[in-house]
Amino acid sequence: MTHDPSHTACLELFEKLSEYLDDELDEQICRQIEAHASTCVACRACLETLRQTVALCRAMRRTEASVPGAFSDRWKEYIRKMASEAMSPHKS
Ligand SMILES: [Zn+2]
Repeated sequence: MTHDPSHTACLELFEKLSEYLDDELDEQICRQIEAHASTCVACRACLETLRQTVALCRAMRRTEASVPGAFSDRWKEYIRKMASEAMSPHKS
């Protein structure tokens, strides 16, 4: 997969990431995300961070009744922030 310097692909993947981490995406899209993350340092770093957070969340889910809906909203906000940071060329 060639890396899009405009990070358009990143943004699209980030939009899907919250679903991916909730296991709501089908396997093909999961593979797309993983394939992209393997070529894109920014996305790989985000994915690792998100995975750790989700693992924590899942561990909590075993003891708590459910994850608050607000968590999901905050999650998407976080992903958008990460995506916009990945999109801005500031490494100089
Ligand atoms: Zn990327």
